[in-house]
Amino acid sequence: MPEGGAATAFEPVLFKDIDTPELYRRQVYEAHEGYAALRRALGGEGSERMTPEAVLEEVRVSNLRGRGGAGFPTARKWQFLPPPDGGPRYLVCNADESEPGTFKDHEILRKNPHMLIEGMILAGYAMRATRGFIYLRGEFAQPKRVVDAAIREAYEAGYLGRDILGSGFDFDLSTYLGAGAYICGEETALLDSLEGKRGFPRLRPPFPAVAGLYGRPTVVNNVETLANVPAIVRRGGAWFASLGTERSGGTKIFSISGRVARPGNYEYPMGTPLRVLLYEAAGGPLPGRAFKAVIPGGGSAGLLVPSQFDLPMDFEPIAQAGSMLGSAGVIVMDDSTCMVRAATWLMEFYADESCGKCTPCREGTKWLEMALERIETGRGTPDDLELLQGLPGQILGNTFCGLGDAAVGFLMSAVRHFWPEFEAHVAEGRCPSGGDGR
Ligand code: SF4
Repeated sequence: MPEGGAATAFEPVLFKDIDTPELYRRQVYEAHEGYAALRRALGGEGSERMTPEAVLEEVRVSNLRGRGGAGFPTARKWQFLPPPDGGPRYLVCNADESEPGTFKDHEILRKNPHMLIEGMILAGYAMRATRGFIYLRGEFAQPKRVVDAAIREAYEAGYLGRDILGSGFDFDLSTYLGAGAYICGEETALLDSLEGKRGFPRLRPPFPAVAGLYGRPTVVNNVETLANVPAIVRRGGAWFASLGTERSGGTKIFSISGRVARPGNYEYPMGTPLRVLLYEAAGGPLPGRAFKAVIPGGGSAGLLVPSQFDLPMDFEPIAQAGSMLGSAGVIVMDDSTCMVRAATWLMEFYADESCGKCTPCREGTKWLEMALERIETGRGTPDDLELLQGLPGQILGNTFCGLGDAAVGFLMSAVRHFWPEFEAHVAEGRCPSGGDGR
């Protein structure tokens, strides 16, 4: 609880029933309003059918923005699709949850797969797509089994397949397991991977809405984004919009990890102050420790320091503070955290995951990784410090896809806020905080 204030009152959307035993089973999901939105939209049980345009309009009014990181308005993304031409159109769910510190989609997939499936059928109806894929990261073998079982149940109940609920609408859905590459979370690399190729980002334009999977119009949406759609159709876009801020409707799942008393996934309204998440949800710092910094949006985001903890967790305010909301993976560091080690570990990750297509990312991340390792292990030189100050700026904005920017986001902010710590490692050959980077 922040400074003894009252607990935040709000209506959860995604986690409303998340701890219900066996919610992943269709009958249990149906007992908690599951598939009610689909029945409403497709005119089941005497209700008047909604047109695809009406479903799209509810999503537009809801102010739902993409939950994968970019925060692009969902309805506008769907509207980018060209008019139907009789050929296939695809809806792809990006379940390649690989951003360091982010583990929200995993919980939805594992505990409430039908909410995602229902959201995908509704989204497919709104954009007139008849084929959907759920692209899961390579490490998600267990969630894949749960989702596959739920898809089978949805087919058995007539929610998937031909003439769904007698509406004339067809929608088929299947899963695909990637090979465990971070770059496949980038939507065009994901599409390459889904086509059976090595996951490389594609040159844009053309954008996937025009030429995506197999060269056909395609929308790629994140798990959490699509899982919000049933509640939007059931309760109305205006209701969903009212839960969040003026520009971002609804709630958000924040994955909180690191140096807090209660790490985990927490659903809160969009725009909730970071301080509320840290104290009310996650129980504050560990006993005897003090917060030092927080990465608010996964490993790709710049850090925020305690004087910024009253910022609302929404896309624009966090961007204006020099970071990003991203996937809302909140990684917390306390006074025992070594910023050099944290930067080293993150750079190791990005250097490892660079697909190698463009030089600034492929070479730059490796050079930074080597310099950071030298500094962290007491072998750093003034030249290494100079590299940390100059090279990230040459990578930023100069790479083929967003991984290059992501790789330097944390480092640049750590250099800005904690430069004396880097200098002390070189001057004294040891960490002044005496801590580690976890
Ligand atoms: Fe590949 Fe990195 Fe270039 Fe992206 S920025 S295309 S990951 S080398």
